[in-house]
Amino acid sequence: MNTVDRKGIALIICAPSGAGKTTLTKRLLSEFPRFVFSVSYTTRPPRPHEVHGKDYYFVTKEEFSNLINENYFAEWATVHGNYYGTPLQNTINTLADGNDILFDVDVQGARQIKASLKNLGRYVFVLPPSRRVLEQRLRSRGTDSDEVIARRLSVVTKEIADAPLFDCVIINDDIKTAYDELRSAYIAATLAPVCRSHFLNDLLKQWS
Ligand code: 5GP
Repeated sequence: MNTVDRKGIALIICAPSGAGKTTLTKRLLSEFPRFVFSVSYTTRPPRPHEVHGKDYYFVTKEEFSNLINENYFAEWATVHGNYYGTPLQNTINTLADGNDILFDVDVQGARQIKASLKNLGRYVFVLPPSRRVLEQRLRSRGTDSDEVIARRLSVVTKEIADAPLFDCVIINDDIKTAYDELRSAYIAATLAPVCRSHFLNDLLKQWS
């Protein structure tokens, strides 16, 4: 099958910061070149290693508000006091080209994407094995202040309650196992009838 013979799918990954989502998504993107990472816009300042246009588009609050007014976003939300948004056109183009798109968004974003994409998306929730492990991971990263870490930990309880929104829940205790599970979730999603509709239509024609 060439790319236009299949429908692209969206994989939506949510996780509390520190659950290991970035490592998992980077592996998935490098193993499956068909995947396009949806680069979000944010008003959060860049962390030292982050690259504008690759990790995020870093914009001011004013620029972000203008983009909201232009209906530029497929979804947007306030997370930990900053604005984050997913550009719409990139999503449309990627899926229309038969490529897959990966969203790294919070639960509010996942809910909004689910409302518009419906069954073209697969929703994966990645969780740490415990609160203690999550706190250790956030501290060892050394990128966030105590205040930011406390804020991030306090929203996790609420986020966990949103688990039923997702198709899959991955507990990231061991990164290799967690990656195998994520990979399987992605492959299973690409086998869904909605992604294979072109193939099924061709096959039906052969029988009619
Ligand atoms: P961080 O600042 O640690 O990179 O991300 C904080 C949270 O914002 C994470 O849960 C991340 O998934 C979420 N996030 C990143 N981009 C977007 C986006 O475009 N929309 C929404 N709703 N959440 C996002």
